[in-house]
Amino acid sequence: MIPAAFDYHRPNSLQEAVSALAQWGADGRPLAGGHSLIPMMKLRLATPAHLVDLAGIAELKGVRSDGDDVIVGAMTTQHEIAASDLLSAKVPLLKETTLQIADPQVRYAGTIGGNAANGDPGNDMPAVMMCLNATYQIVGKSGERRIAARQFYRGTFNTALQSGELITAIRIATPSAGHGYAYEKLKRKIGDYATAAAAVVLTMSGGTVAACSIGLTNVADRPLWAEEAAKILVGSSLDAATVRRAVAAAEAITAPASDAHGPAHYRTKMAGVMLTRALARARSRAHA
Ligand SMILES: Cc1cc2nc3c(=O)[nH]c(=O)nc-3n(C[C@H](O)[C@H](O)[C@H](O)COP(=O)(O)OP(=O)(O)OC[C@H]3O[C@@H](n4cnc5c(N)ncnc54)[C@H](O)[C@@H]3O)c2cc1C
Repeated sequence: MIPAAFDYHRPNSLQEAVSALAQWGADGRPLAGGHSLIPMMKLRLATPAHLVDLAGIAELKGVRSDGDDVIVGAMTTQHEIAASDLLSAKVPLLKETTLQIADPQVRYAGTIGGNAANGDPGNDMPAVMMCLNATYQIVGKSGERRIAARQFYRGTFNTALQSGELITAIRIATPSAGHGYAYEKLKRKIGDYATAAAAVVLTMSGGTVAACSIGLTNVADRPLWAEEAAKILVGSSLDAATVRRAVAAAEAITAPASDAHGPAHYRTKMAGVMLTRALARARSRAHA
């Protein structure tokens, strides 16, 4: 399959990229790793007249600390996320998730910004970003703004990004020292998208849950933040009855399609199984 004709542009600065995208409006599209966009162009599901390649913009790359936050540049590749000592130390959930995306070839090119901006409910990072309460830093012709990942996703390939806007970086408040975390993903075969997946971050204190956050991947038209399920767990010792109640609350907000991953009811139940496993593994990693 061959994409429709397009013009290719490779700016060297963020300012140039923003100006170019502002000029072309809906006819322009940022290109990051290309591992979602190029297949969509080949299928003619996307037909941008202008591709603005972000690969030459150094300021969009890298991982750094900013006070209690970690900032990950949008063009940081999935491979670089997995290799980052800073992220392994401060937000280990990111490494765990990244290593479950596709295969090394995809991870060498695919970026965290592209994965977050894409709007495909099958992408793994969006639910993880909601779980971590990450903030997306955005720039466009009207200037800079920030939006919480929990407010960003509107539906399949529908996000809060306006035409011409770019995610420049993702800001994540470092979870408490000693927190537990897990990303559990069911897939039909190695390297596949999730049939269902669950992200958990939790903090224990004196044997009970002090704080908990849960994200769910690919069980609705958008990633889900399971707020009620997490609230049920706070104050509990993660005993089996409370976990069952929380899992039921998480399953209740899912609305998956019946597709090649399986029937809708099966996928909802698998989201529950992934959450049960993620909670147990996060608990085993949490201190106190
Ligand atoms: C074989 C295969 C298996 C895969 N399996 C998985 C999987 O299991 N889990 C998973 O999560 N993903 C999977 N992917 C997708 C992969 O992770 C992509 O790399 C990712 O979804 C998109 O990142 P990208 O950098 O390639 O972005 P691109 O494909 O370049 O862009 C994706 C979209 O985001 C927009 N965009 C890119 N960067 C920005 C930015 N900074 N600001 C605003 N908009 C931007 C683009 O215009 C486009 O609309 C798979 C891909 C392949 C080819």
